[in-house]
Amino acid sequence: MSDDTLSRIRGAFFGMAVGDALGAPVEFMMPGEIKARHGILREMTGGGWLRLKPGQVTDDTDMSLCIARGICAGNGWDITRIATEFASWLKTRPIDVGDTCRRGIRNFMLHGQLETPPNEWDAGNGALMRMVPVAIYTVSDDALLHRCAIEQAHLTHNHPLSDAACVCYGKMLHLAISGASRNRIRREVNLLAEEFPNFNFEPYKGLATGYVVDTFQTVCHYFFRAKGFEECVVATVNQGGDADTTGAIIGGLAGAYYGFESIPGRWLKKLDRSVAKEIEDLALSLVK
Ligand code: MN
Ligand code: MN
Repeated sequence: MSDDTLSRIRGAFFGMAVGDALGAPVEFMMPGEIKARHGILREMTGGGWLRLKPGQVTDDTDMSLCIARGICAGNGWDITRIATEFASWLKTRPIDVGDTCRRGIRNFMLHGQLETPPNEWDAGNGALMRMVPVAIYTVSDDALLHRCAIEQAHLTHNHPLSDAACVCYGKMLHLAISGASRNRIRREVNLLAEEFPNFNFEPYKGLATGYVVDTFQTVCHYFFRAKGFEECVVATVNQGGDADTTGAIIGGLAGAYYGFESIPGRWLKKLDRSVAKEIEDLALSLVK
């Protein structure tokens, strides 16, 4: 792999964590509240409803690391191993776990369940937020991406809109990692919106709830408008709502598209040390 590709892969994983840490302190806030408190939030302040330290990440990064550990510890893709990593993580009593994720992990722990039954309430963004390691591991193999995306999603979320968003985001990451243009990446979103018109993001409705459609629209709106990694992530988290998760998802995409070197050094410096160390160890191991 070229240095450029390796930079995009590291950019995706670090970008995701940085977006999570930047957005988490304003999670569940309205854009107006963020403006009143921060003007434009550009720094890792910590705080928020989870009382975070500056640079601290949340479940979005934690669960992505679980998937990466699960892949790197064994011989490639093993959904039981990934579920076991989720279970070990849940036992550490993380500060923040989505209800749908908790239910799925508990059903694995109690009953060995690897696929949660279809559920109309499973269209949250909890499966989408942890797609970065899946896309890195399956880079250059769209069929494998499809299988792995759905398998990991169904550990906790089983809904056609969540599934479609996970697969599409994975393809967008593949394209970004391979150096494709924004127009080319945009075509994947157009295909998704042909099948599921809900994902149309123009005109942008300004919703950044935990609903996977709102999350996806917010990420697309800012990715295709803003220029550069910092502008993409700042614009997205200042939209508030599920800001750590929209931040993580755009951070992964923009990190892949603009490369590791585009991530502001001041954010990387603040990022939780042990998280940064583990990403450094795992990001490139996923493609070995
Ligand atoms: Mn989170
Ligand atoms: Mn969140």
